[in-house]
Amino acid sequence: MSADDAPADDLNIFLSRDTVAGDDDGPLAGKTVAVKDNISTKGIPTTCGSAMLEGYVPPYDATVVERVREAGATVVGKTNMDEFGMGGTTETSAYGPTKNPVDPERVPGGSSGGSAAAVAAGEADLALGSDTGGSVRNPAAFCGVVGIKPTYGLVSRYGLVAYANSLEQIGPLANTVEDAAALLDAIAGPDEHDATTRYDAAEDGPAVHPADETTYAAAADGDADGMTVGVPTELVAGADDAVVAVFEDALADLEAQGVETVEVSLPSVEHAVQAYYVIAMSEASSNLARFDGVRYGVDGGEGNWNESFARSREQGFGDEVKRRVLLGTYALSAGYHDKYYKKAQDARAWVKQDFDEALAEADVLATPTMPVLPPKRGESLDDPLSLYLMDANTVPVNLANLPAISVPAGEAEGLPVGMQFVGPAFGEEAVVRAGSAVEE
Ligand code: GLN
Repeated sequence: MSADDAPADDLNIFLSRDTVAGDDDGPLAGKTVAVKDNISTKGIPTTCGSAMLEGYVPPYDATVVERVREAGATVVGKTNMDEFGMGGTTETSAYGPTKNPVDPERVPGGSSGGSAAAVAAGEADLALGSDTGGSVRNPAAFCGVVGIKPTYGLVSRYGLVAYANSLEQIGPLANTVEDAAALLDAIAGPDEHDATTRYDAAEDGPAVHPADETTYAAAADGDADGMTVGVPTELVAGADDAVVAVFEDALADLEAQGVETVEVSLPSVEHAVQAYYVIAMSEASSNLARFDGVRYGVDGGEGNWNESFARSREQGFGDEVKRRVLLGTYALSAGYHDKYYKKAQDARAWVKQDFDEALAEADVLATPTMPVLPPKRGESLDDPLSLYLMDANTVPVNLANLPAISVPAGEAEGLPVGMQFVGPAFGEEAVVRAGSAVEE
């Protein structure tokens, strides 16, 4: 097969194909890794799937890129994504949609759709994505691969182009739980360039940063015997029947392996999608202010600064990004701040508290990752609200800053179904262990 008809090109997985060789040895030696195009790579274009950043070449590497190279992995390209991470299907990319390798008529999920598709199509052993409200777990579920969203603060965001900085983490994708966990081992840990990387603040938390004393890959031992898995009724009730059937089979399988399942309740999640979108859009409106044609982005031409700024953004941003910047600016404006932003922060605190209570009764919580099967391309773009509702099971985890994994749990109608496990803060081992038991 020539490079021109490689599956990656048909499926529109990569936005650029530059290679960065890894060091000679290290735990990831010989592995290839695809990197989402919102993660900065020195000397290699980083567009965030946006026309705004066409031709932008960062002068430095993100910390995670440095770390995978030091661990021995070779970067094989930058992957397609929803513009600035805003979407769940990789259809809002200015460079065209990515197709799902399992069924090219369907979306690969998003926003890290190119990264999940690269792994599913065998174009890379591993991939990095970013997860603001589900963007690693959603495409992992839709493409039938594994994706991990780390605890907020475990992985450096230095060099990640911000969408909603209080919610997002860079996370690994791979074909197996063990490989995803090994990539997490390589990228986790404090970074002097990112002050939000932190130790566990809990009173009885470990004295050193979890990434320094544990090996996540070793937790992928397939042995969940004796674990307690909480099932939040609210996050199962909203899912399609075909998805729930696969989820319940996987739960029964875990019970047969010695897992105890208990019902738990997260009443606040009813408000999670609304709260998430208010917070994400508010943060986006501020983070994306730097794309003004002067500091970054399309040149808006000469003349009055306001007009030049408007021209730059009119040309550079796609519809979904414009919608979010407008709504976010509105939510933060004088007079509306208390009505929207503050309320959303209250809901966020409530979601956190609900998770704390549920996780006092169980080691991890389990839900379907996505409440639906991967839609056909073109089906969901015209209806942003239905797209936002697809995030019902993933966004609560970002609001609560917790770790989660999505693992393939089986198929319905020939399409992959993902199962999500959510753990306590810095409880990556528990979600990795539970996920590896589903693989057994
Ligand atoms: N679909 C969600 C959104 O559009 C999540 C995106 C993400 O995690 N980057 O905001």
